[in-house]
Amino acid sequence: MKDKGDLNMQSKKEKRTALMQKLSPIFRCPKCGEELWVDEGSRLKCIRSHSFDLARQGHVHLTKKPAVSNYSSELFAARREVIEGGLYEKMHEALGELLDWEGKTILDAGSGEGSHLMALKKKKDFTGIGTDLAKSGIEMAAKGEDELLWVVADLAEAPFLDSSFDTVLNIFSPANYEEFHRITKNGGAVLKVVPGSRYLQELRKLAGESAYSNEDVVEGFYRQFPEAESIKVSFTAAVPENLRLPLLKMTPLTWKHTDDKDFQEKARSIKEITIDVLILKGRIQKQHRSQSGADPS
Ligand SMILES: [Zn+2]
Repeated sequence: MKDKGDLNMQSKKEKRTALMQKLSPIFRCPKCGEELWVDEGSRLKCIRSHSFDLARQGHVHLTKKPAVSNYSSELFAARREVIEGGLYEKMHEALGELLDWEGKTILDAGSGEGSHLMALKKKKDFTGIGTDLAKSGIEMAAKGEDELLWVVADLAEAPFLDSSFDTVLNIFSPANYEEFHRITKNGGAVLKVVPGSRYLQELRKLAGESAYSNEDVVEGFYRQFPEAESIKVSFTAAVPENLRLPLLKMTPLTWKHTDDKDFQEKARSIKEITIDVLILKGRIQKQHRSQSGADPS
């Protein structure tokens, strides 16, 4: 590693430490559930002396179980190329308009390599944390945008204190509503992005896959948030030649074909792609719980 690289790493780590301090207390110890605070040397520490270092690359591991590393970094790199290439721009615009982002604290739950959160950060001024159990995704995310924090974490035991976030984003990723409810402030929002039936339909057709149904996922969301709003965002984006192979590599739809030269050749002929999604927005209501004093469930 060259000196310049070290300096970059250093400043990244320093900037993120400052951000952790600003947000503190927000983190919860994954081992004992106590509050974590920022100790000397960019370390998060709890009262029972469990401690978690901010890695040199600028991310932190807050998991009890080992992080998953079987997601290929190739997939995350492909996703980043496609998202940075602007194919999801209209979806980001729609998300940007759905909330008051200014000065808010936002969690991207299941961020992968963080490209969606980074794209939103370019549009809006908020404090953001991205989290995923896939270590390779978070490591890649940490190399980008300094003003965001990246955490390897298990959503089933989110390492955040109660009512820490104004909004939880959950984009093309499984949800854990119990934890979303706990870590979001009363009156805060959960924004979930679900693929629609025509999402990436050009690739689906090529791979011989039938149309995707989001019915179960949408129903699951409405069970949690009966008064949820849903916003359909559907558009076709031009796919520049340099993004055609990354597009193929970023989705499980076409994984089994990625070594198939004929298939790749056909995929290279995809000049436009359909991005068809449903954005679901639910409000967190905690009054009932605090008034009754106990959680009936
Ligand atoms: Zn602890």
